Amino acid sequence: MKKVLITGAAGFLGSHLCDKFINEGYHVIAMDNLLTGSLDNIEHLFPNKYFEYYHHDVSKFVHVPGNLDYILHFASPASPIDYLKMPIQTLKVGSLGTHNLLGLAKAKNARILVASTSEVYGDPLVHPQTEEYWGNVNPIGPRGVYDEAKRFQEAITMAYHNFHGLETRIVRIFNTYGPRMRVNDGRALPAFFSQAIKNENITVFGDGDQTRSFCYVSDLIEGIYKLLLSDYHLPVNIGNPKEITIKEIAEEVLRFVPHSTSKIINVALPEDDPKKRKPDITKAKTLLGWEPKVSRKEGFEITFQYFKQVLS
Ligand code: UDP
Repeated sequence: MKKVLITGAAGFLGSHLCDKFINEGYHVIAMDNLLTGSLDNIEHLFPNKYFEYYHHDVSKFVHVPGNLDYILHFASPASPIDYLKMPIQTLKVGSLGTHNLLGLAKAKNARILVASTSEVYGDPLVHPQTEEYWGNVNPIGPRGVYDEAKRFQEAITMAYHNFHGLETRIVRIFNTYGPRMRVNDGRALPAFFSQAIKNENITVFGDGDQTRSFCYVSDLIEGIYKLLLSDYHLPVNIGNPKEITIKEIAEEVLRFVPHSTSKIINVALPEDDPKKRKPDITKAKTLLGWEPKVSRKEGFEITFQYFKQVLS
């Protein structure tokens, strides 16, 4: 039985990864410090004898007894309001945390996959974003703590690969949504769904002409799984290339929630908010045979039911 360590295991993506690896027959060691994660997301896995949970901050030395085959590093505050509130922790988990996990991977002779992000492209000047694009990041802006930590993470991961011959994988994750997102994490879809359900104003930042491309969580998890098991060590974009403006997505959410009396309003646009974002997924398609399958209609239905239940 293969053993996998998942950091950030009680978070949105981490918890879905725990489910995936348990279902695929792995022994899962889940690690989290619950800074932004919640045990509710993994509660159902505790009875499984091949699931273990460690409460630990990976910015500090990480010890795991026994052998390890894989490490997936998904610990980090990941929404703009979270990393604004926790800038130092965000920098530490992406830098010191990644360093500790690379050291652990080396000691255990394990393969490590690190969660990078479309934020490494900053406010992109190339559209759609290919993996070859180096990005347009403001290091000292409000998003710099996350963007630069993730850029450092990619650099140190490549250094461990090149210098120590470590087996490494880097996934650049684009906007993802689905059950287990925190209602109040400040991101567009949790905000819009909860506002529409509660009949509150739907807060579109700026004029809403900025674009994003939203991927349903099960598609993303499948892409990550395929990348981990592939033999490709350079960064790979995983996301849904269907681009939409934020104004349109707000209207779509509103149409989705029956009888909502919410109105869409425009509020101030946060500093350094990227104007557009859309992954070029040619690499994922050709190298991994992966592309998203879940339509927004299907993904929205499941997500709507989730938020309705959380808010009831
Ligand atoms: N956004 C918005 N209203 C909200 C939350 C977000 O209009 O209540 C916008 C935000 O300005 C950005 C887009 O939606 O342009 C996506 O924001 P999110 O925080 O979900 O992720 P980002 O892609 O910016 O990291």
